[in-house]
Amino acid sequence: MKDIINVEEIFAENVFTFGKMKEMLPKEAYEEVISVADFGGELSKKTANIVANAMKEWAIENGATHYTHWFQPLTGTTAEKHDSFITHPDKDGKMIMEFSGKELIKGESDASSFPSGGLRATFEARGYTAWDITSPAFLREDAIGTILCIPTAFCSYKGEALDKKTPLLRSMQAISEQGLRIVKLFGNTEAKKVTASVGAEQEYFLIDRDMYLRRTDLIHTGRTLIGSPAAKGQEMDDHYYGCIRERIGAFMKDVNLELWKVGVTAKTQHNEVAPAQHELAPIYETANVATDHNQIVMETMKKVAERHNLTCLLHEKPFKGINGSGKHNNWSLNTDNGCNLLDPGDTPNDNIQFLLVLACIMKAVDTHADLLRQSASNVGNDHRLGADEAPPAIISMFLGEQLDDVIKQLIETGEATHCLANNHLETGVSVLPDLLIDPTDRNRTSPFAFTGNKFEFRMVGSSDSISDPNVILNTIVAESFCEAADRLEAAKNFDEEVHNIIKEYVTAHQRIVFNGNNYAPEWVEEAARRGLPNLPTMLDAVETLTTEKSIKLFEKFNIFTKAELESRKEILFETYSKTLNIEANCLREMIKRQILPSEISYMNELADTVNKGEKAGVKISSAINLLEKVNGYSTKLAESVDKLEVILKEARAIKDNKEKAFAFRDKVKVCMEEVRVYSDELEKITDKDFWPIPSYSDMLFEV
Ligand code: ADP
Ligand code: MG
Repeated sequence: MKDIINVEEIFAENVFTFGKMKEMLPKEAYEEVISVADFGGELSKKTANIVANAMKEWAIENGATHYTHWFQPLTGTTAEKHDSFITHPDKDGKMIMEFSGKELIKGESDASSFPSGGLRATFEARGYTAWDITSPAFLREDAIGTILCIPTAFCSYKGEALDKKTPLLRSMQAISEQGLRIVKLFGNTEAKKVTASVGAEQEYFLIDRDMYLRRTDLIHTGRTLIGSPAAKGQEMDDHYYGCIRERIGAFMKDVNLELWKVGVTAKTQHNEVAPAQHELAPIYETANVATDHNQIVMETMKKVAERHNLTCLLHEKPFKGINGSGKHNNWSLNTDNGCNLLDPGDTPNDNIQFLLVLACIMKAVDTHADLLRQSASNVGNDHRLGADEAPPAIISMFLGEQLDDVIKQLIETGEATHCLANNHLETGVSVLPDLLIDPTDRNRTSPFAFTGNKFEFRMVGSSDSISDPNVILNTIVAESFCEAADRLEAAKNFDEEVHNIIKEYVTAHQRIVFNGNNYAPEWVEEAARRGLPNLPTMLDAVETLTTEKSIKLFEKFNIFTKAELESRKEILFETYSKTLNIEANCLREMIKRQILPSEISYMNELADTVNKGEKAGVKISSAINLLEKVNGYSTKLAESVDKLEVILKEARAIKDNKEKAFAFRDKVKVCMEEVRVYSDELEKITDKDFWPIPSYSDMLFEV
């Protein structure tokens, strides 16, 4: 029997879609929902009750016993607390399941146990979750049963954002308002909103679960803290797009099914560059839903992997010496009447609206390069950015040949009179068609690359929420749109003013454009000459959140208050120290309780051999030499781990959050590297039977 998957039938079967609402709700209620989803406002109490009831009926019919307000606190993951639909049984002991509009719209939770960076104290712990009507509720089925998940925003009693969703929704409102002003100026008076659309390509590793469970570092930190490279790495380029192994294929098939059921448009799957590394990309959707869906993708991957006795690693750098994982955030702006503001058309030089949008984006990215860089930083990404596999920590834009040429004409003459056209690629083989090629090649090394009708922000870390980068993109572009719109709305001669703005912006901000190789060391020097910020690590970028420039930007568009920014900064410093503290603890434990004891046993065995040889009158030089080497490295390893303990204690004792984080980076992390060097040297010369944990070769090639 063929195993036929009817995707059309199963797609979104576990989602309370607008389509289902249309079928189930009275017309007025449905229209109210659509209006609030599209243009904001509040549902009436009556309608909220009607929607809640329909949602409950549908959920229970599909097996749900509980509902949850599903939200995204500042831990970067998701949070949920389940409530069943049960109520007091009636007099006859019969159970009636209930779910009110109030329960749908608002939830209460203890905010003090989530990171708040000082916004909440434990004595004022109230936090609220509020239904995000723009992101559909869905049913999650797993061992616990079926749970109705309602995407929500999470705020404090005073309305301060304690999550990733609230600022994203605020930024989408800002870009919509400012984007509308721009398209209206160009005659599009029909458009009612401008939506940021996002498609996030997700990279990940899969390894055997039994091996994973034998590595304390992977369990506690998501990455290998020690491990010497396998004989083979990624140098043959034979994994990228390679044939997908059966076990991985079975995993991918299950992931797709699960995702389709909850309405995630899983589209593309392939093997990535590093051994055991893969990628999944969905079709783009509104930034808010894309962000929720990316969380679902990550959760689903982790869950499904377990079913296949695999473990999915989402850390940015699980293995040293081979590529880490990122998340390419593809971003564009679209009106509700079908215009992509980032689509240049065939002749971008004639497309004045596009040129203005592009100029505004150049201005935004150049002015706020520091914030964009910050938005892609997390502890794990520090291991990845700036290595040979990912963009450096310097923001620049890739426009490609065609747009670069248009920009040059604008700067030189103030006019763009022509553009490089599409070409045909002659395959030279009569049975193959000649291909119409894009006017622009790709630049895989650029952090922010124009790819036809969208920008691809390639810096984001694989484990991170994509909320932050999109909050920044939406907000910084809203600002430059706003400035341009202010001028254009007041202009006496529109054509002249738009022309002036474009020329002014592209000239003033041309330094942000870089089409060359971002991985080359020369770029670091060139970027410094251009005065572009280079913020090599996460900690270097934290303060960008609270510069005068940033506070002004965020307050102007009501994205963050100063207090919210300060709180996020505190959380970042805390997170850094906590993460490094766990890593250092874990390393210490592995060395003291696994590696050193194993080496002592190994030395015992070697010494036995040497002694036995001596007794037999033979000097076993290989064993003697090896024993000396193992002893030498083991001594150094023991000393370095003792040193780590001292340094760690000192770092932990620091009170100030910022100072503490820097001590972890500059002292603890450096010392951890030293420990690793001795451990990795030992691994290379230790009998495999004595090495207590799976090696890189075991984990990466035995999947
Ligand atoms: P590329 O090969 O250029 O990376 P893909 O077609 O593979 O392009 O798309 C990568 C991701 O970008 C996908 O998630 C896709 O849905 C998304 N994407 C495509 N067009 C847009 C757009 N206009 N806006 C936002 N994301 C887009
Ligand atoms: Mg891509």
